[in-house]
Amino acid sequence: MNVLVINAGSSSLKFQLLDTKTREVYAKGNCERIGIDGSFIGYNVKDGDKQKLEVALPDHKTAIKHVFEILAGAGFDTDKIEGIGHRVVQGGWYFPESKVVTDETLGWVREVAPLAPLHNYAEADVIEICREMFPSIGNVIVADTSFHYNIPEKAWRYALPRDVVDKLHIRKYGAHGTSHRYIWRSTKELLGDDVHKLVSCHLGSGASLSAIQDGKDMDTTMGLTPLDGLIMGTRCGTIDPATVCYLVREGGYTIDEVDTMMNKQSGLLALSGISSDSRDIEDGVNKGDPNCIMAFDMFYYRTSQLIAEMAQSMHGFDTMAFSAGIGENSATMRMGVAKELEWLGVKVDPEKNKVRSDELRVISTDDSKIKVLVVPTNEELMIALDVEELLGK
Ligand code: AMP
Repeated sequence: MNVLVINAGSSSLKFQLLDTKTREVYAKGNCERIGIDGSFIGYNVKDGDKQKLEVALPDHKTAIKHVFEILAGAGFDTDKIEGIGHRVVQGGWYFPESKVVTDETLGWVREVAPLAPLHNYAEADVIEICREMFPSIGNVIVADTSFHYNIPEKAWRYALPRDVVDKLHIRKYGAHGTSHRYIWRSTKELLGDDVHKLVSCHLGSGASLSAIQDGKDMDTTMGLTPLDGLIMGTRCGTIDPATVCYLVREGGYTIDEVDTMMNKQSGLLALSGISSDSRDIEDGVNKGDPNCIMAFDMFYYRTSQLIAEMAQSMHGFDTMAFSAGIGENSATMRMGVAKELEWLGVKVDPEKNKVRSDELRVISTDDSKIKVLVVPTNEELMIALDVEELLGK
């Protein structure tokens, strides 16, 4: 089935057209700076070189129009596109699984938008535009929170007054669920009956862990929002929640300033003082920069601590999988985290770890108690497979 996957942000729109049977990617790209000066679309058609189309993108509707023109130019007219899958960041309490777009389900995306205002409103608008422009193509909503929705109540409930959490729908929603689901699926395909308790580590500029027992999510590190849990590129992860009150009361910051500080000015960027990108920080480590060394040490410490926490929620683990930008590419980060976990029986083979590859692979030693994998994630494929399942019949 030919599925177009759309991942819309407030000022960007990523797209990928792929065939779910052959898994071939026909075209992919990103419309950037929508609604801002200097907008453009960077894209590839099949294995061709990257192209850049400098074009005014005053709104998402114009961006989608151009995406369909690019696809038509590559031989994919509208009638060859059999479904559209939309990534939605926050599914709230309505999407324990992916759902076909109807007036009702689209309304739900907007209803839960206050939990992710920067994403959900834009995503809902784009879904609406696709329905209007291409009424013959079915649309599916794939929420990033779905996979975590049925974790046990003791894992999702916050110890706040019941009337408050009920009224405001406060709970752990998590994120990166589509990626964690794909990581489980790939790990299971490779290991079969040898995997039951997996700690899935999606380590990119945003980062989260998931405890997955026989395909069911048991806990995850992100919370009400994607700020919780691990130290990330620019996000602080878990800190004492009273820090927010202290910053407002004693530091004189507004609540919006604290929000920006914790989401955009913290994490590896704040610790290293130079960059949110692990490659830049690794250069700093190699030059002996103490702030960069501390940034990496803290990343290993917190990540390994939370891996142990995820393992605790399953009373053990047999497998862990590294994925996303850092997990797939940084041998240094993988080894740093794995070394912290040696006492739990994690042993990574330095030679296997060093190999650069786009393939799913095992990097633990043969005598490691815990199997350690690198799994290139593929959220787009996972979304497309959901579209196939829901619309394919
Ligand atoms: P993601 O959000 O999954 O795209 O991950 C982005 C992050 O992955 C970047 O900010 C880098 O820290 C890291 N990253 C990407 N490529 C590499 C690489 N080749 N080596 C080390 N880290 C990388």
